[in-house]
Amino acid sequence: MAKKTSLKRSTHGMINIDPLQRGGILTPKAREALAEWGDGYSICDFCPGKLEEIKKPPIHNFVYDDLPTFLGVDHARVTNGARESIFAVMHALSKKDGCVVMDGNAHYTSLVSAERAGLSISQVPVSDRPEYKIDPEGYADILEKKQNSGEKVVLAVLTYPDGNYGNIVDAKKVSTICHEYEVPLLLNCAYSVGRMPVSAKDLGVDFIAGSGHKSMAACGPVGVLGISEQYHDLTLKRSAYNKNKEIELLGCTARGATIMTLIASFPTVVARVAEWDHEVKKARWFSKAMGDLGMHQMGDNPHNHDLMFFETPVLYEISKHAKKGRFFLYKELKKRKIHGIKSGLTKYFKLSTYGLSDDDLRYVINAFDDIIATTV
Ligand SMILES: *Cc1c(COP(=O)(O)O)cnc(C)c1O
Repeated sequence: MAKKTSLKRSTHGMINIDPLQRGGILTPKAREALAEWGDGYSICDFCPGKLEEIKKPPIHNFVYDDLPTFLGVDHARVTNGARESIFAVMHALSKKDGCVVMDGNAHYTSLVSAERAGLSISQVPVSDRPEYKIDPEGYADILEKKQNSGEKVVLAVLTYPDGNYGNIVDAKKVSTICHEYEVPLLLNCAYSVGRMPVSAKDLGVDFIAGSGHKSMAACGPVGVLGISEQYHDLTLKRSAYNKNKEIELLGCTARGATIMTLIASFPTVVARVAEWDHEVKKARWFSKAMGDLGMHQMGDNPHNHDLMFFETPVLYEISKHAKKGRFFLYKELKKRKIHGIKSGLTKYFKLSTYGLSDDDLRYVINAFDDIIATTV
């Protein structure tokens, strides 16, 4: 018999500043839905043969009405994650010797999606430290070169914001450039849809990918995909053998509790998106307070997102002689019931202020202040 291992989570009751986790914390309604729909295939009691057509529970309304309105798209689907949304689009558009152009800050899942779809990758360069910016004109440079060389660009991708620095690029500018070259643009909104207002129509993008467990208070893995009318038939092509089933989605995607938590949290998510300005204010306050302690925020400054990357030379210096070495920070934060900075990091790290109260943010700043002042 294997040793009994506890299945309890050790981070309950802590202030969590892990960017990966801040936007995926369940609402009370989602937590209820998770228990209610936890059985395998529970949502399929009254399925007429296609996930989106299930009226009881109300998946049909969510996918055909609520979600397209929320994303500002003609058509929407629920997927098993942002990466599954990205892959589905790339695979649908893939051509022999085809290529994807993406920003140099793109998430690894955009790259593996392209690899799996058999597409080569060109990346728009990122500017140097401290801003790590993507210039929209970088898309024009690459697309122009590709056009001249006769290489077929099937899709462009912009990460909005990227998952390292939380930088937000002018997506409207990028979409205008892509369309001049007749290349569709997918906006990777894993860190934005569900946190901040994003409308595919307003930004002129053809596809939008979002992550339920990253930013929509869902347990996941679950994602969303928005598709413009123009690409509907190609992306959502149906099987020749099973006329109800969409090929790129392998028929049915989120077939259980995950989609139910997404639906349960949706009204709260719609409401919280309207509070985005306040989230940006809090992030900027936090960035300034960290700066006062000698920890400097990289990327867009002033910042426009709750995900922030800090260089922390003051903590690195301490790690050189602290008893616990580079693990001191994790341990000191843990002592103060703060979780979310990876164990062993002291030189730089990212964190998120999303959904944390002013009191909690002040507490985190005071904790850093205290750790810097007292660790020997
Ligand atoms: C987290 C993240 C993803 C992956 O999201 P999944 O829903 O887990 O597939 C993709 N892109 C970015 C920028 C991310 O931060």
